[in-house]
Amino acid sequence: MKIGVLALQGAFLEHEQMLEKAGASSFEIRQKADLQDMDGLILPGGESTVMNKLLRELDIFNALNNLIENGLPVFGTCAGLLLLAKAVNNRGSACFASMPITARRNAYGRQLGSFFTEERFGTIENIPMTFIRAPYIENADSRVEILSVVNDNIVAARYKNQLVTSFHPELNDDIRVHEYFLNMIK
Ligand code: GLN
Repeated sequence: MKIGVLALQGAFLEHEQMLEKAGASSFEIRQKADLQDMDGLILPGGESTVMNKLLRELDIFNALNNLIENGLPVFGTCAGLLLLAKAVNNRGSACFASMPITARRNAYGRQLGSFFTEERFGTIENIPMTFIRAPYIENADSRVEILSVVNDNIVAARYKNQLVTSFHPELNDDIRVHEYFLNMIK
């Protein structure tokens, strides 16, 4: 199984390491020429506004947008969640907008910008969750499966081929969320 990891900026290296531990190979997407056949795509954490801009400047946006629309399994963490959300802070998202959720950007404010907790992810207990200036999901279409809730806020969800987490599962050494994503591909 071969996963493309968007590597324009942010926490992409950690995803590659998690994929390796989970037994999948990966390659980095830094420019258009890096695009090749892939079984899945990871959109990492970082700055969603910067990634959105670079995706267009580097002319990668359309290719990835088509793949996602055509059902390529995609996993967005943190900024990656914002790239997939249909709306951000009640405004239309400027990026893929393929997941019928409304996300709140930097939802925890500056004081609580970063924190750690352990919660359930779907049927999996005690997943370590590191939040860094994270968004959460304010609203989800009824077809969206809610996987994790922390402090009454939705922080992980799945819709068809798309998985999103507000937190960074790649920053702790628990590979079960990545395994869940790889199982979506099988
Ligand atoms: N705050 C960032 C954004 O709005 C996301 C933070 C992250 O990915 N760790 O894009």
